[in-house]
Amino acid sequence: MTVKREREREKMKILVTGGTGLVGTAIKTIISGWTTNKDKEFIFLSSSDLDLRDGEATLALFQYHQPDVILHLAAVVGGLFKNMREKVRMLEENIMINMNVLSVAHACDVNRVISCLSTCIFPDKTSYPIDETMLHDGPPHISNDAYAYAKRMLEVQSRAYQEQYGRDYVCVIPTNIYGPADNFHLGDAHVIPALIHKCFLARNESLPFIVAGSGRPLRQFIYSEDLATLLVWMLDNYIDQKEPLILSVDPNDEVSILYIAHLIAAEFQYENRLVMDISLPDGQYKKTASNARLRSFMPSFVFTPIEEGIKKTVTWFLAHYPTCRK
Ligand code: NAP
Ligand code: GDP
Repeated sequence: MTVKREREREKMKILVTGGTGLVGTAIKTIISGWTTNKDKEFIFLSSSDLDLRDGEATLALFQYHQPDVILHLAAVVGGLFKNMREKVRMLEENIMINMNVLSVAHACDVNRVISCLSTCIFPDKTSYPIDETMLHDGPPHISNDAYAYAKRMLEVQSRAYQEQYGRDYVCVIPTNIYGPADNFHLGDAHVIPALIHKCFLARNESLPFIVAGSGRPLRQFIYSEDLATLLVWMLDNYIDQKEPLILSVDPNDEVSILYIAHLIAAEFQYENRLVMDISLPDGQYKKTASNARLRSFMPSFVFTPIEEGIKKTVTWFLAHYPTCRK
């Protein structure tokens, strides 16, 4: 019955969990620019629409919307320090959310779910560049093992639904994401939003701009709107593929935390007050990911250069400082 209804639909109905987050907001921005592509209807969910830890609420909402595809972005997310401090929450809440989303999607006969992992869940001791086949090849870095194991189980669960029920439940693996509408919390945020907020305060109060760790770790940062463009592309083009897909800038575009800190300080004309606090942890040294599989589908996709992306993010932060997440 459900299948018949979906076939009769003119529009693909996409339910986006985590629709108010960094990535969900970027998808809203991308589709707001569409003038011709009207064959898709997006429904964006936040935790105020439903708590995805609650299985019954999830069932009621999925039954109500009856989507064709679920873009599953919702998660308890944070930077190095939140991952170290809140391991129980990162493990338990993410497992609960993911368990409900996939099992309820199956119960509601939703045949496609695209779920979000992260390159920080790959093995710590590995060879580089990391590719999609290496997810379970060894333990993750100790700083974020709780989050990492919860996310790895999401991949296992997606694959189980593929194998046992023929569902098109697949995972994407983005690298570090940044952009407008990020969480700029000083203690919980990822490095770019945390440092933008810290540099803003340091400049306003004429204090040193303190950056955690040695600055040597390397990261591949993807601008949130580039990621959103790729996710929307997948809706039409990544069907029944089975394998996860790393969504990343090219390995050559990996940069150091120190480089990022300098870019941010330059936006605030505050470079001469940058101080590294080497008593604070570095986390994983690097997690260089291959985007060869992505490039096999999209050889000429042009990513936003990090210098431009940081400029746009700082501009957004300054314009939204009173109300942004922080
Ligand atoms: P985010 O900005 O922290 O947003 C998280 C979203 O999840 C929000 O919309 C939040 O809703 C929702 N959410 C959290 N708990 C929920 C619950 N119990 N019930 C319902 N909704 C809940 O996250 P993001 O940075 O956009 O991340 C999106 C995805 O990408 C996540 O799966 C994350 O693991 C993955 N990822 C992120 C990064 C990164 O650098 N940010 C890197 C790699 C992968 P409210 O707004 O209502 O709280
Ligand atoms: P990760 O990529 O998963 O490790 O997460 P983050 O986005 O939190 O980046 C962590 C890296 O940035 C580590 O090398 C930290 O030492 C460094 N870093 C420097 N300053 C900060 C900060 O203020 N907040 C965070 N989260 N990381 C910082």
